[in-house]
Amino acid sequence: MITANRRLAQLPVRAWQQQWRDAVTDPLELLRLLGLEHRSAELLASRDTGFALRVPRGYVARMRAGDAADPLLLQVLPRPAELVNAPGYAFDAVGDMAASAAPGVLQKYNGRALLIATGSCAVNCRYCFRRHFPYGEQTAAANRWQGAVAAIAADTSISEVLLSGGDPLSLSNAKLAELGQALTAIPHVQRLRIHTRLPVVLPERVDAGLVQWLAQLPLQKVVVIHANHANELDASVDTAHAQLREAGCTLLNQSVLLRGVNDNEDALALLSERLLASGVLPYYLHQLDKVQGAAHFEVDDAQALTLMQALRARLPGYLVPRLVRETAGEKSKTPV
Ligand SMILES: *Cc1c(COP(=O)(O)O)cnc(C)c1O
Repeated sequence: MITANRRLAQLPVRAWQQQWRDAVTDPLELLRLLGLEHRSAELLASRDTGFALRVPRGYVARMRAGDAADPLLLQVLPRPAELVNAPGYAFDAVGDMAASAAPGVLQKYNGRALLIATGSCAVNCRYCFRRHFPYGEQTAAANRWQGAVAAIAADTSISEVLLSGGDPLSLSNAKLAELGQALTAIPHVQRLRIHTRLPVVLPERVDAGLVQWLAQLPLQKVVVIHANHANELDASVDTAHAQLREAGCTLLNQSVLLRGVNDNEDALALLSERLLASGVLPYYLHQLDKVQGAAHFEVDDAQALTLMQALRARLPGYLVPRLVRETAGEKSKTPV
C-alpha cells in the first residue's frame, strides 16, 4: 500500500505527466471553461477535422474568458474554417517525405540532421504543419534510437542534431538520456538543438531530471521554444526558461505568423519584448506552411513585409525575428 507520504514524495515527479493526461480534449468543455458555450454552433467545426482538440489546462488558464477571438484560444480550437478545402494547401506541406534519410531522420540542410523524435505532443496547434504526418512509421526514438544514431554516426558532415516531432520533450528523461549518451559518443556531433513548445504550454515538463540531464550533457545546447503571443508567457513559463538557461541552454523562439493571432505590429512587438524579459531571443517568424486545414490563418507576404518594416522601426535589431518560409527542396529556410 502506498502511504500518503510516499504519494506526496512522488508528486513533483508525476506532475507533468498528470497534467498531460488531464488536458482538455472536448471542444464543448473548452468553450464552457471560457464562458462561450452558448456560441458553440458558430465557433466549432460541425464534424470531425481529423485532428483532435488537445490543450493543457494551464494554457487554458491564460486565455481570456468570454473572448472568442482570444489569440491562445484561436490556436487550439477546431473551427469551421478547417473543413474548407483550400487549393494549394497540401497534406505534406514542407516536403518531409522526400527528405527522409532513415526512419525518423530528415536531412534537408547542410550540417544538420533533424530527428522526428516522437509523434506525441501536449497540445494540438491547428496550424501544425505535421498535423497529417504518418508518425507511426517515422519516429526516431523507436528501437532505442538505433537507426537514427547510425545514420548520424555515418555522416561526418553532421555537427548539429535537431530534435523535433511531435514534441521531443514529450519523451521521458530516460529516453532523452539514451539519445544524449549515443550522440556524445559521435565525435562530429557538437550541438543538440531541441525544438519544443512544452516550456510554453506545459512548463512543468522542465523538471529536475530534465534540467540535470541537460546540465551535464557535454554538447552545446540550444532550445528553440515556440511562442506566438505574449499572453502565452507567464511566471510559470519564466521559471521553466530560467531553469533551462541555468542548465547551459541558449534560448531562442520561433513563431508562426497567424491571422487573427499575431498579425499586427503591437502583438509582434510585445511578443519580442516579453520573450526577452523571459531570457529568450526571437529567431524566426515563419510564414505559414500550407497544410490542409490551416488556410484561414494565412497572412499574405505584402502584409507580412509591412509588419516587419514596422518592427524594425520600433525595436532594437536583436528583437526583430527573421521572416522566413520553408520551401520544399530548398537548402535553407527562405527569407520572405
Ligand atoms: C528548419 C529545419 C532545420 C533548421 O534550420 P535552421 O535554419 O538552422 O533553423 C533543419 N532541418 C530541417 C529538416 C528543417 O526543417
